[in-house]
Amino acid sequence: MTELVFRDDAYAKNCEATVTSVNERGGITLDRTVFYATAGGQPGDSGLLIVEGRPVMIATTVYNADKTVIHVPVEGQVLPRPGDKVSAQLDWENRYKLMRCHTMMHLLCAAVPFAVTGSAITGEGGRIDFDIPEGQIPDKGELEAKINGWIHEDHAVNTRWISEEELDANPELVRTMFVKPPRGAGRIRLVEIGASGKIDLQPCGGTHVRRTAEIGGIAVQKIENKGKINRRIRMVLT
Ligand SMILES: [Zn+2]
Repeated sequence: MTELVFRDDAYAKNCEATVTSVNERGGITLDRTVFYATAGGQPGDSGLLIVEGRPVMIATTVYNADKTVIHVPVEGQVLPRPGDKVSAQLDWENRYKLMRCHTMMHLLCAAVPFAVTGSAITGEGGRIDFDIPEGQIPDKGELEAKINGWIHEDHAVNTRWISEEELDANPELVRTMFVKPPRGAGRIRLVEIGASGKIDLQPCGGTHVRRTAEIGGIAVQKIENKGKINRRIRMVLT
C-alpha cells in the first residue's frame, strides 16, 4: 500500500519518497505520494518525479488493482529504479483547480437533494447527474445564487473518519446510487462543509479546498435531460 499524503494534507505540493517498483509498462510506485490517483470522477494528478536532479514527467496517476498508486510517466523517458530516492512534485496549478472544482461539486450536491447517478470533474468545472423527479428540476438562476451564496459565506471544509458500522447506521449519508464508498479498511472518510456538516456531509476520498471562498465563484451552464433518472447539471468556475 502507498502512503497517501494527499489524504491528510491536500495542500502538500511535494514529498520525498522511495521507488518501490517499476512495472513492465513503466508505471512507477512509491512508498508515499502527494499524487492523487483517478477516482470518484476526479482525474489523477500530473507532475514530476525528480531523480538525482533529473526530472521524470508524470502524465497521470491511477490505482492498481491492489490499491497501490501508479505514477504513469510520459513515454520515452529514462525511468527510475526500485530503491531510488525521488522528490515527487505536483503540477500544483492544475491540482488546485481540481480541488476548487471538486469542492464546488459538493455544494452542487448539497443544493440538489436527489440521488447522484454519475459525475465528472475537469480543471474548469464539472457535472453531476441526478435522479430528479419530473416537476422538481431546479431553476438555473436560483441554483447558481444558492451555491455562490455558500461560497461567499466562506464555510470550513473538514474531513473526519467514521467506522463502517456508523455509516451503515446512517445510510442517508451516501448520495450516490451506483458507486458506494470503498469497504474493507474498517473506516470511511467523511467530508463536512459548514459547522458539523450543515451544508454537506458525505463520504469522499478526494481533495478539497479548506474554505468554500477559495472556490471563488461558479456559473451553472445548463441543466440537460439525459434520460429518466439522469438530469445532468454542468457548472464552471468563473
Ligand atoms: Zn469530495
